[in-house]
Amino acid sequence: MEIAKSAKLQNVCYDIRGPVLKAANAMEEQGHRIIKLNIGNPAPFGFEAPQEILADVITNLPNAIGYCDSKGLFAARKAVVQYYQQKGLFVDVGDIYIGNGVSELIVMAMQALLNNGDEMLIPAPDYPLWTAAVTLAGGSPTHYLCDENNGWYPDLADIEAKITPQTRGIVVINPNNPTGAVYPKPILEGIVALARRHNLIIFADEIYDKILYDGAEHTSIATLCDDLLCITFNGLSKSYRVAGFRSGWLMVSGNKKAAKDYIEGLDMLASMRLCANVQAQFAIQTALGGYQSINDLICKGGRLYEQREIAWQMLNAIPGVSCTKPEGALYLFPKLDPAIYPIEDDQAFILEFLQAEKVLLVQGTGFNWPHTDHFRVVFLPHIDELKEAINRLARFLANYRSR
Ligand code: PLP
Repeated sequence: MEIAKSAKLQNVCYDIRGPVLKAANAMEEQGHRIIKLNIGNPAPFGFEAPQEILADVITNLPNAIGYCDSKGLFAARKAVVQYYQQKGLFVDVGDIYIGNGVSELIVMAMQALLNNGDEMLIPAPDYPLWTAAVTLAGGSPTHYLCDENNGWYPDLADIEAKITPQTRGIVVINPNNPTGAVYPKPILEGIVALARRHNLIIFADEIYDKILYDGAEHTSIATLCDDLLCITFNGLSKSYRVAGFRSGWLMVSGNKKAAKDYIEGLDMLASMRLCANVQAQFAIQTALGGYQSINDLICKGGRLYEQREIAWQMLNAIPGVSCTKPEGALYLFPKLDPAIYPIEDDQAFILEFLQAEKVLLVQGTGFNWPHTDHFRVVFLPHIDELKEAINRLARFLANYRSR
């Protein structure tokens, strides 16, 4: 008899590592070299982690052989508390939960909250783990639009129109993956006002809060809503280029009194997985308090800045391709003009491009974008490789146009 997966997984998708990646891996096994612009993992592209973080983890390895508190090492959580203090937010060590990356904590936060049929507002496009985690927890993801014609900022009217009595919370990914938008304070204040009016919890994914370009300023939404329950997520994977460590945190702030039971649920789930990887937790204090080498990468002349610049210019130079300039994070989310590229199935389109040009991208619908006219590019490769990949895309699209 066929062994089927759980019905809970029926509608759970995570296309970034889905069928398109499987096809790329199969091609690699056949000996092809694939340029992979699909995953925001800095290390394989030659980005180094800060030396002091590595030294910390290596030195502390012998002290990391036991389990620790389910919520994490005290020193690591204290460092997170201080990080938010600098932003004007005052929480306690008990409000911080360390996890095996933000990914684990997103799943925990949704599992602890949602009953079947509860709705969660999630941006479209989104980082698809959010939609997957809500679905897995029995919830119903409701996507609100981010407006490409307005810097990809959330459309507040669309959010309000989608709130129902079942809506429990709103997810804000800022800086955004995949669009690179960094939300101005008035937009965040608008979201807070809606949450306040409709009694919603705010879930703020701020893993790219230090990856900002051209003077963009990041506001942690938790600093704007100390009367509401706000759960903020962040970690070391991107800003400190140690995604493999699996080190992230969740911070509970605001109206905790009203959330005693939910917080007990979070404690329960944290206990059930015993604790997060202890070795990597030793890196948190040094990372947050140390030299912020990410700043050397995002300023003019820095590697990320220059790669973003080239990729953005080259994409916009392709006929029928337009792309908003990212203000933060590691991605571009270009649009293919449907009048020039009438794509019906964007996954098939990305697969065809992979087969033809040996470059791996991710289709827009993989980010819960409702149309088949976008794709995501990771701009982590060195400029030569990035240029090569985008030139191949330009060649592929030229052939597509002349069909
Ligand atoms: N949130 C966003 C917006 C991301 O882009 C990612 C990774 O790409 C994550 C969370 C997951 O990060 P972590 O490595 O901490 O699990």
